[in-house]
Amino acid sequence: MSHQPYEKWLLSEEVISQQDKESLKIHLQECKSCQDLHYAWQAVEQEFAINAQVEPQSGFDQRWEIRLEKTRETRRQKRITVSIGITLGFSLLATWSILLADLTNFSLSSFLGNLFATLGQFVSRIIHILRGVESLFRAFPLAIPISAAIGVSLMAVVTLLLAFWTASLFKIYQPKQGVILK
Ligand SMILES: [Zn+2]
Repeated sequence: MSHQPYEKWLLSEEVISQQDKESLKIHLQECKSCQDLHYAWQAVEQEFAINAQVEPQSGFDQRWEIRLEKTRETRRQKRITVSIGITLGFSLLATWSILLADLTNFSLSSFLGNLFATLGQFVSRIIHILRGVESLFRAFPLAIPISAAIGVSLMAVVTLLLAFWTASLFKIYQPKQGVILK
């Protein structure tokens, strides 16, 4: 039994006529060898179809991985920014407190104690430092106008730092907007 041109038709992508299709169908019913070839080739084509579906899936995973990495990086920058902001905020509050205490001459330690009572060790450290400054004022009255000047300078520096921090905050968030726009 000749398997041609049936084998050729089975393995090629070429479109065959309706008449050829009929004769192929008849040959497949009679010929075990061509039947096996037909099913084997169908299995291979199915395999290709599945792989073609899997391919973009893995590409999606990669994109998702990159997005996750970007999200992590953004969160890390946010955490850094927040901690810098908190530190600067405390510095600003402390500086203003020094200035306020200079001007009104009320008890620095009780003022700060009430203000920061619940804010833990970080604040108690500030109070400790400021108590030292307060006792310095008592010992040397001349230190008051001098420290007032220092306080004003400090506040100016901290305000500048805060402005710089705000500017860098905008810089950090701008690339994120760019990614969303894409
Ligand atoms: Zn055959």
